[in-house]
Amino acid sequence: VPQRSRRLTAAPLDQRAVRRHNLALVLGRLVADGASSRATLAAETGLNKTTVSSLVADLIHWGLVVESDVLNPGSVGRPATAVKVNGEGVVGIGLEINIDYLAVIAVDLLGRQRERVLVAVDNRGRSPARVLSHLTRLATGVLDGVLGQGLVPVGATLAVPGLVDVGRGELMVSPNLGWTRTRLASMLRKRLAAYDLAVLVDNEANLAALAELWSGTGQRVANFLYVSGEVGIGAGVVLNGELLRGAHGFAGELGHVTVDPDGALCTCGSRGCLEAYVGLEALLRSAALAFTEGPGTVTQDDWIPALLERAESDARVAAGLFEVGRWLGIAVAGVANVVDPQAVVLGGFFAPLAEWLRESMCVELSQRWLPAPFTGIEVVASPLGPDAAVRGAAMLSVREILADPATLDTLIEVS
Ligand SMILES: [Zn+2]
Repeated sequence: VPQRSRRLTAAPLDQRAVRRHNLALVLGRLVADGASSRATLAAETGLNKTTVSSLVADLIHWGLVVESDVLNPGSVGRPATAVKVNGEGVVGIGLEINIDYLAVIAVDLLGRQRERVLVAVDNRGRSPARVLSHLTRLATGVLDGVLGQGLVPVGATLAVPGLVDVGRGELMVSPNLGWTRTRLASMLRKRLAAYDLAVLVDNEANLAALAELWSGTGQRVANFLYVSGEVGIGAGVVLNGELLRGAHGFAGELGHVTVDPDGALCTCGSRGCLEAYVGLEALLRSAALAFTEGPGTVTQDDWIPALLERAESDARVAAGLFEVGRWLGIAVAGVANVVDPQAVVLGGFFAPLAEWLRESMCVELSQRWLPAPFTGIEVVASPLGPDAAVRGAAMLSVREILADPATLDTLIEVS
């Protein structure tokens, strides 16, 4: 045995870290497999059966796992009892502040949505404190709802449109909200102190791309560009099954990629940003569709059907949507030339409009994307609908628990 290896073996092991790792390993197997016996878990993880039984006991104690039905009840020999992930235990809370709506949902360990609220509200010009107070009222309703169902909320993630320093829980800038340097995580944690939640903050398009990766297009495609249409334009780049965050966590700002150097003024202060051509206001303008109420008083569910109906009967509206697809195709071709995705996933209001945007997008891609003669890029509508970001937020909180179930030990002792 080489000396180096002997020294490693002799080094004291951090038993606690190993146990934390093994707890996540066993829980991960149960998430992937469904019900499983302790013996099967031992075989799959390479841990011995006594260790697995002890780990499972902890997972049951924290409410993450429950005893399941006996496997193979008719078979010869002693029947093995199984365990499975507990869908009636903990939930993750997703919250979203967007320009023209607020949303809160709860998702359980099986990925099922347990509570949801989404309200149209114009957040432009409102202070962070005021918006957070409104959001907290909505969150309190959702939290009390899940507690009433006997579920335990363990973490919350807030989705916001702008540059986020995830480590500090700070929104650096959101041009559309008009907010800069706002410590949203600590502000929200204080307001939800009664529920004792771990609180994270992340960019809304990143969280939507993660939801897409965990429960949408990412189930069959490992390299894709997610583009969401809201008042602002967000994007998330997923490469080899991982979200690309970049050096500072600011990757994916497709909305502020220049498509016309001398073009229209953007909320960020620059000119000719994609967002000024395909964001909600530009879309409604080019589709000759005006809401006297304006954004923040109606949700997508209200105006999308009206827009689709008019696109069928009015050539100007169809041409407006064609133009939006064209600008989108120009920007997406630029990104595609750099990152080589298999698919472009259209989210937000782009999803229900995909049939009207795809043709002109594909024309631009075929002209501007170098690999076009040799291969293709799928342009698909996100199956997740307008909840993608808030769902990704809730799922991220759930995943934090799955990645390190032992954090529940301190969370539960405190409460
Ligand atoms: Zn801009």
